[in-house]
Amino acid sequence: MKNYDTKQHSTQDWQGMDAAHNIHAFVDQKKLNAAGPRVMNRAKGLYVWDNDDRQYLDGMSGLWCTALGYGRHDLIDAATRQMEQLSYYNMFFHTTHPSVIELSELLFSLLPDRYSHVIYTNSGSESNEVLIRTARRYWQVVGKPQKRVMIGRWNGYHGSTLASTAMGGMKFMHEMGGMLPDIAHIDEPYWFAHGGNLTPEEFGLKCARQLEEKILELGSENVAGFIAEPFQGAGGMIFPPESYWPEIQRICRQYDVLLCADEVIGGFGRTGEWFAHQHFGFEPDTITIAKGLTSGYIPMGGLILSRRMAEALVEHGGVFAHGLTYAGHPVAAAVAIANIKALRDEKIVERVKNDTGPYLQRKLREVFGEHPMIGEIQGAGLVAALQFTADKATRKRFANEDEISWRCRSYGFEEGVIIRSTLGRMIMAPALVATHAELDELVEKTRRAVERTAQEYK
Ligand code: PLP
Repeated sequence: MKNYDTKQHSTQDWQGMDAAHNIHAFVDQKKLNAAGPRVMNRAKGLYVWDNDDRQYLDGMSGLWCTALGYGRHDLIDAATRQMEQLSYYNMFFHTTHPSVIELSELLFSLLPDRYSHVIYTNSGSESNEVLIRTARRYWQVVGKPQKRVMIGRWNGYHGSTLASTAMGGMKFMHEMGGMLPDIAHIDEPYWFAHGGNLTPEEFGLKCARQLEEKILELGSENVAGFIAEPFQGAGGMIFPPESYWPEIQRICRQYDVLLCADEVIGGFGRTGEWFAHQHFGFEPDTITIAKGLTSGYIPMGGLILSRRMAEALVEHGGVFAHGLTYAGHPVAAAVAIANIKALRDEKIVERVKNDTGPYLQRKLREVFGEHPMIGEIQGAGLVAALQFTADKATRKRFANEDEISWRCRSYGFEEGVIIRSTLGRMIMAPALVATHAELDELVEKTRRAVERTAQEYK
């Protein structure tokens, strides 16, 4: 193994140089500069080491992306081989290349026949940007050009570019120059927080019917599509009640509104199905992908289209004036092929469904089910959330839940585990290759972090 030189610079030196030039994501940069970011230096499997050689179990797969864990040589070799053969080419005008063709063959072998085409991008945000133009273009082509409005959900997250921010429902992001016309929102199906005295099933129906009300308010002739994450990731890993998705699908079909699943987190095995919509049992018209497509080894995303949409666009659409220089990049495609083949041939997705997924979900319920400060445990496969509560019986939320979950995350780092905090919820999504022993370690270290938090805030 290569001898990594962690002493090339001290952590303090790296932090100083970082502060001089780098603007980070979703932080108060001034505070970060004062505290100094963790400098991550190397990684293997589920583990990451910082510049001082402290080891962390990565319970978040980076940012929900390293499905195969870190340092896989099949992915590294695929990238190297492709760089040697064709380091770059594009899909503009009249050219293509074998790498991207083979990837699409593989991708559609995972999906039912109702999906047929994909537009590649370099990220989840870009894919959702492309979605807006593609959905509007589709309606133009089929003779309903006034169908332009995209409906999203409050607290949904679809990316950080202008239009993906607007479709997402993070109000604090909208306030930073993010809003656009022809975008609307409905509530998130967050039963623990907003369900009141309704059963989860009643609440799921109520939330879904907000979509119907919104479509009627806007006029169905003006609505292009509804976008949502099958389970809401960045907004708290919220799993909707079972009644939710069938009703949403009914409404979208009744009013001829495209049902657009953002599977940037849910895709490629996270729930134990290849795609999260399969776990919830609905059939979207478009599927946004990124992250797990390449296990995060190299940027790549895409927008998958139903055969119905693709046929209209291809047969009747003429030129679609859209293109990204790096979309379908041969090296990214080669990595994606190696990644999907590993997930398929090593039966990793099946293992998440039948073995490691149920194992993690069971363990979390055993360890936290009776915990007085954990009000709800949600999840499927290798993704889960723990909800902090001030009173389990009444589902009361802490007024300072953001601070509490952030503290828990910090304790996690001290215990050697990376978990994420969002508004009173602790989130985990380890690599899909996690073993029982690694999941035991994840749960035990999370337990210690939660316990330390509980001691402080009880
Ligand atoms: N959609 C969802 C559901 C996401 O979780 C994310 C990122 O976390 C995105 C879109 C944006 O993807 P990217 O950061 O690759 O632009």
